[in-house]
Amino acid sequence: KSGFVAIVGRPNVGKSTLLNRIVGQKIAIMSDKAQTTRNKIQGVYTTPEAQLIFIDTPGIHKPRHRLGDFMVETAYSAIREVDAVLFMIAADQKRGKGDDFIIERLKDSHSPVYLVINKIDKVHPDDLLGIIEDYRQQMDFKEIIPISATEGNNFDTLMTTLVDQM
Ligand code: GDP
Ligand code: MG
Repeated sequence: KSGFVAIVGRPNVGKSTLLNRIVGQKIAIMSDKAQTTRNKIQGVYTTPEAQLIFIDTPGIHKPRHRLGDFMVETAYSAIREVDAVLFMIAADQKRGKGDDFIIERLKDSHSPVYLVINKIDKVHPDDLLGIIEDYRQQMDFKEIIPISATEGNNFDTLMTTLVDQM
């Protein structure tokens, strides 16, 4: 089994952190500053039965200048070429225009889109239910998987789910 998986989401939701956990070593640039990840960074997750190749995209957003244009194009091509898309949000941030913009793009995706709710270590379980309910109404996700990229909660579930789909 093998496949390509793109990780998309607003800056700072934890895409690089998840990728670092996937590859088990720090290769992605991590920063609190927006748009630090300027290039697609690919990580490989290997088990005896499967190999998943991950693409960390720059945040998809409305382009405001040429570099922005390029980054957005890179992210869009990633969405088109992969077997699965992980749309990552942070549980401690309200859904905003940036998220809605991405959701509109994801609706065109021919690949299954998984909603990955990251940073669950920062919120109360009741808040998590509210987030799930809210996002369910925006789009039909293949699955919704709450995780903590830093703590590792549900990491194995996420990987198993992706491998099973391939
Ligand atoms: P990216 O811009 O989406 O790639 O986000 P980063 O991976 O660079 O993470 C942005 C910030 O969020 C960093 O300070 C991370 O340490 C932090 N972060 C990422 N995942 C988690 C998580 O699951 N829980 C908490 N508490 N912080 C996280
Ligand atoms: Mg990043």
